[in-house]
Amino acid sequence: MVASRSARERKATAQAGPLAQVRIEVGAQEQFVYKISCTQCRAKGHRPWSAYRPGADNGFMAAMDRWVFHLREKHPSSDAPCLEFLPAAEQRLHERRAQQDAARTRPD
Ligand SMILES: [Zn+2]
Repeated sequence: MVASRSARERKATAQAGPLAQVRIEVGAQEQFVYKISCTQCRAKGHRPWSAYRPGADNGFMAAMDRWVFHLREKHPSSDAPCLEFLPAAEQRLHERRAQQDAARTRPD
C-alpha cells in the first residue's frame, strides 16, 4: 500500500507539472485521497488553491481534471504534461453536466 501510494504520488506529480504539489493520502476506508495544490495561487482565506478528491482512479481523474482546468484558466503559459488530458477532461465535464441536466429534467 505504501509503495503503491508513493509510486502514484510520483507519477501524479510528474504529470501535474512544476506548479503543482501533489499529495496522496490514505483515507479512513483505505482509499486513496488525492490532493493537488497550486504553489502559486491562494484561494480565499490564504489557503492554497487545491483540488481534493477521495477515491481510486475516479478520484485521481477528478482531481487531475480540476487541476487541468485551473492551469488553463490561471496559468495559460504552463506546459505541464497533464494538459494533454484537457480534451478528455472537457469531455468528462460535458458528460457530467449532461447527466445532471437529465437528472433535473427527468419526471418522476
Ligand atoms: Zn494556480
